Amino acid sequence: MDLFTAPGQMRAWSRGQRAAGSTVGVVPTMGALHRGHLALVEAVRERVDVVVVTIFVNPLQFNQSTDFDAYPRPIDDDLAVCEAIGVDAVYAPTSATMYGPSFQTHVEPGELAVGLEGPMRPGHFRGVATVVTKLFGAIEPDVAAFGRKDYQQLAIVRRMVDDLDLGVEILGVPIVREPDGLALSSRNARLEPDDRRAAVVLSRALGRAVEVVDHGERDAARIERTICDAIEAEPRARLEYASVVDESTLEPVAQLDSPAVALVAAWFGDVRLIDNAALDAGDR
Ligand code: AMP
Repeated sequence: MDLFTAPGQMRAWSRGQRAAGSTVGVVPTMGALHRGHLALVEAVRERVDVVVVTIFVNPLQFNQSTDFDAYPRPIDDDLAVCEAIGVDAVYAPTSATMYGPSFQTHVEPGELAVGLEGPMRPGHFRGVATVVTKLFGAIEPDVAAFGRKDYQQLAIVRRMVDDLDLGVEILGVPIVREPDGLALSSRNARLEPDDRRAAVVLSRALGRAVEVVDHGERDAARIERTICDAIEAEPRARLEYASVVDESTLEPVAQLDSPAVALVAAWFGDVRLIDNAALDAGDR
C-alpha cells in the first residue's frame, strides 16, 4: 500500500494508474476508521480497479475548535486497517499542505446547504465542498463513495459534482449500524457509557417514523412529532432537530406525496450525533 501526504505525489500515482489502464476510486474520510468506512471501500472497489482512502481531519469543516481538537486521530491503526483490507493507496495530507498561508479559495454550496445541518454548523458545508474539491483535484478519481449517514453532505456533493462538471461518479452507500441500531460514527467512541446506551433512541425514533408511515400516516408534522416525542422521552438526549424533507431538494414537506427523508440531530453529553431514514410512502 502506498502512502502519500502531498497532492503532487498523489496525482502522479493516480495518473500512473490511469495511464496503465486502471480506473481509480476514492473514499474520503476523516479517519478513525470503522465498519461504515469499510462499506464505502467495498462499494467503490466493486466499481474500479484501484482504491484510494483519504484520511484528513479537515479544519475548515469544524465550527467548534473543541470538536476539532477532540476528534480522534488513530493514524497508525487506520493505516493498518487500510493495508489489511487491500486499499491500494492512502492519501493523508497535513493541514499545512492543504491550507498554506496564501490559501483563499472556497467552494460555496447553494440551497441544499441552507437547512438542517446548515444553520447548526455555519461554514461546515463550505468546508466540506472545498476539501472534497481539493481531494478530487489531487486524485482525479473516476468514482467516489459517500455515506448516506451524512445525507445532506451526499446531496451537496452530488450537486457540486454536477454544477462544477467534476466528472466523478458519486456512490451513496447505505448506513452501517451497530446491532442495537446506532449508526456507526467516529464520534461514538467519545460517548459516556450511559449516553452510548441512550443514543439508540435516534434510530428507534426514526424506526417509529417509518412504522407510522407504513401504517398510512402522510402528515409530515405528525411524523416529526412522533420522532420528537420518542427522542424527548430519553432524558440524556438533547434534540436539535427532527425534520421530514423531500429526498432530493431537502425542502420541508407538508405531506408525504413523494419520496422523503426524516433527519435528526441530537446531543448526548458533548457529542453531537446525526441519523436519518428514508420515508417511502409508496402509492398508498
Ligand atoms: P467521516 O470520516 O465521518 O467524515 O466519514 C467519511 C465517510 O464515511 C462519509 O461519506 C460518511 O458519510 C461515511 N460514513 C460515516 N459513518 C457511516 C456509517 N455509519 N454508514 C455509512 N457511511 C458512513
